[in-house]
Amino acid sequence: MRPFDYMRAEDLQAATEAKGNGATVIAGGTNLLDLMKLEVMAPERLVDITRLDLHNTERTSGGGLRIGALVTNSDLAANPDVRRNWPVLSRALLAGATGQLRNKATTGGNLLQRTRCYYFYDTAMPCNKREPGSGCHARTGFNRIHAILGASDKCIATHPSDMAVAMRALDAEVEVQGSGGTRRMGLDALYRLPGDTPHIETSLAEGEIITAVILPPPPTAATQVYRKVRDRSSYAFALVSVAAVVAMDGARIREARLAFGGLGPMPWRDGEVERALEGQEPSDALFDCASDILLRDAQGQGSNDFKIPLARRTLKAVLREVTRTEAPA
Ligand code: SF4
Repeated sequence: MRPFDYMRAEDLQAATEAKGNGATVIAGGTNLLDLMKLEVMAPERLVDITRLDLHNTERTSGGGLRIGALVTNSDLAANPDVRRNWPVLSRALLAGATGQLRNKATTGGNLLQRTRCYYFYDTAMPCNKREPGSGCHARTGFNRIHAILGASDKCIATHPSDMAVAMRALDAEVEVQGSGGTRRMGLDALYRLPGDTPHIETSLAEGEIITAVILPPPPTAATQVYRKVRDRSSYAFALVSVAAVVAMDGARIREARLAFGGLGPMPWRDGEVERALEGQEPSDALFDCASDILLRDAQGQGSNDFKIPLARRTLKAVLREVTRTEAPA
């Protein structure tokens, strides 16, 4: 690890000023410290924001939930209101990392964690995300955990968060504060596709810090499920995950909100999949149609080709569960 300066921000203004002047923000440090030890990241200055007043979770006046950026993953998963009204979020959080890591990891940090692409962490290998213009070893190397949707010829990394997948299905917005004031945006606007600049992962401006995540009011009469397929049952990132928030109207699907992890460079959501399901009676034929739409542009890279049929099977299993549709005998 290289030497660095450390400062502790006592208020948000000091934190945003420090970030605007090139400091790297640290909170739980569960990802950043690994990156620094491996010298994948070598910030000259850290600004510690853990003393800022961003530790609370509270209802908004509109019936939603405001989650402070420093609320830990453990606390958020165990929050009784979240467990009762946004259970998909609680389950996604508990599917991530380990108890020890969830005790330290924060809501804001979870959103901004970096990919777990092996070559990003191996400084002997070319990686456009770590060193722009150096190449992407994953494209020709072992790419079992990599993206089948939304990748580019410059980068095929996936976003590793479970929490963000559930938040995407719940239409969460992030609240961001910087020198220009406060703004809010959906996760689709927060994350950027890799394109030609995979090292630029979010739309945050230089001095901007995530201060909260806002959930809309709980979905009405919806079944919420988070299913994660991974290589082992703990401390493993998703090969494929599905967050589903689905409401029925009699025998038909009234509303479907679906987000996917392990498939793309951001928590993936596809409105066409949802529109194909809404208003229809659930059936395996309908679920196959939804998978066809989701995976119409999917591209395997070799070692991750299995993700295409795996995503299809996982989506079908989740849709059967949330619509209580029996599998054929
Ligand atoms: Fe780097 Fe992205 Fe290629 Fe991985 S997939 S080696 S993160 S450029």
